[in-house]
Amino acid sequence: MLDQIVTVLLEFLPIYAAVYAVNVFLYFATGWVLVAIQNRHPERRIQQNRRGEKRMWKEIRLSVMSLTVTAGCLAGGIFLSLKGWTLVDPLELSWWSVILMFVISVIAFDTWFYWMHRFMHTKLMYRFHAEHHRSVAPTVWSTYSDDLVDAFVMQSYYLFAVIILPIPVMVLIAHRLWDHFNGTIGHSGFEFYASPLSRMPSPMVCVTFHDQHHSRFRYNFANFFSFWDRVCGTIDPKYDDQVRAFENLGAEKKSKPVAAGE
Ligand SMILES: [Zn+2]
Ligand SMILES: [Zn+2]
Repeated sequence: MLDQIVTVLLEFLPIYAAVYAVNVFLYFATGWVLVAIQNRHPERRIQQNRRGEKRMWKEIRLSVMSLTVTAGCLAGGIFLSLKGWTLVDPLELSWWSVILMFVISVIAFDTWFYWMHRFMHTKLMYRFHAEHHRSVAPTVWSTYSDDLVDAFVMQSYYLFAVIILPIPVMVLIAHRLWDHFNGTIGHSGFEFYASPLSRMPSPMVCVTFHDQHHSRFRYNFANFFSFWDRVCGTIDPKYDDQVRAFENLGAEKKSKPVAAGE
């Protein structure tokens, strides 16, 4: 029995180490690239009067810690799937199965994220979620700045999803990569994506969505879509208006060269 456990652990550890290394690399690489872009567009800062980057080093320390859990969840999901320790087999890879399962996974995760996030805001669980909310003006470094329990509750989707959904491993990895970029941009504190596509009646969101969750606390619990927040009445009442304001900022900028030429 002990032999078997050791064998399984020795098989799992290289996967875990590789997933953790890629996560940490992407955390720094994405953050660095986004900050370089943001520095050239101070007018796009969402919370103009706050400087979330003051917390950068504390958040980096916490993130490197909590990525051990995030990576563990994804590595665990990959391992369960490769071992066949699931209730359903993954679909064979084909163009349609990849697209279908990616879309299903994004929708399933958004639903998981919304309800687990609401759960983290209950009296019972908030003590584990408070750390993430110390970032009132989030930055690219805040995405994984959370308690280990918080990280497990939110990220264990990647561990459990393969058990009940026929998601091929490649699609699970692609979804997690997508969520990494989406999450980092969502915490970046600078708005570049405001458009009619990110407000009512579209279910899509832009950076302002999760930024308002951090600054105003009671709204916008979902991850990728505003669907659950709109249905459950937790959408920030100022969300659509603020998106419009950023759209106008973009329109003003475009019309500036004409004005200068007058
Ligand atoms: Zn929260
Ligand atoms: Zn957040």
